[in-house]
Amino acid sequence: MTRPPPPRARLSLRSGRRATDGLILGLAGLLALAACQTSPPNATGAASRIPVVTTTTVFADMVRNVGGDLVDVTSLVPKNGDVHTFEPKPGDVRAVARAKLLVMNGLGLDDWLAKTISNASSSGTPLVKLAVDLPGITLLPGEEPGTQNPHLFMDPKYVELYVDRIASGLKTVDPADANRFDEQAASYKTRLRALDAWVREQISTVPPADRKLVTFHDAFPYYAREYGITIVGVAVEAPGQDPSAGYTAALIDAIRKAGVKAIFSESQFPAKLVDQLAAETGANVVANLYDDALGDPPVTSYEAVIRWDTQQLVAALR
Ligand SMILES: [Zn+2]
Repeated sequence: MTRPPPPRARLSLRSGRRATDGLILGLAGLLALAACQTSPPNATGAASRIPVVTTTTVFADMVRNVGGDLVDVTSLVPKNGDVHTFEPKPGDVRAVARAKLLVMNGLGLDDWLAKTISNASSSGTPLVKLAVDLPGITLLPGEEPGTQNPHLFMDPKYVELYVDRIASGLKTVDPADANRFDEQAASYKTRLRALDAWVREQISTVPPADRKLVTFHDAFPYYAREYGITIVGVAVEAPGQDPSAGYTAALIDAIRKAGVKAIFSESQFPAKLVDQLAAETGANVVANLYDDALGDPPVTSYEAVIRWDTQQLVAALR
């Protein structure tokens, strides 16, 4: 399995661009929209597909499900890559410059995209922020004071809202194909509801007292909240930063006290720290969960990520 490059300094752009709306339409976006309305309907040839750029492979898969063969989707962070410590390269800036639609999560997961957009002089390209200002959702706190945890997409129910946002964004860029986007979004949402029911059924086979989770980074709180799992702790406070000795000692204490059976890590992170936690606590290590990035087969779609993780959790905790 390919490993990502070593973690580098985290790009801090939290204050760079204030998100006031999930879907931001600039002047150039409106002009592109006007141009679209006078062009012939989108054919299925590769050359006429809508170029969409997403920050991660997970969102790229969601866009492909909604856009079908009308879209040509590129993810900036590669499979098995770490979105939290990603640094865009010149090729990424060129991809953003060519895009007709940009899709990101927001809430601090991938805010480096703002700088890439400004480097690409693409401030007018429609930008969909999947997780920002979603209706009816109580956000959980992030690792730094005043921030929110961005990993809403680990709950398939919230992904239905992501799908609505993606469909709106595609319809803005290509209104002639609105019906197809709506149909594809609806059938994808039907699958997501089935996925949610399946996860619920799987987790119900784990005794309630054993539904306790320790992960490498804090990607699972929304999944845990949805399916009745307790997060006992996370190995790192933030990806790319080594935890302090005091933090790790407190976590080891919490793992022992809670009697956690297994500690999970994710494929994009080094296993050394969780191996140390396991050695200190006697818990087993399951080092191949997926969350922020797709991986190699069979974990090549968002639905596969949720199925895979659920299978690993249930097998280790039951
Ligand atoms: Zn993450």
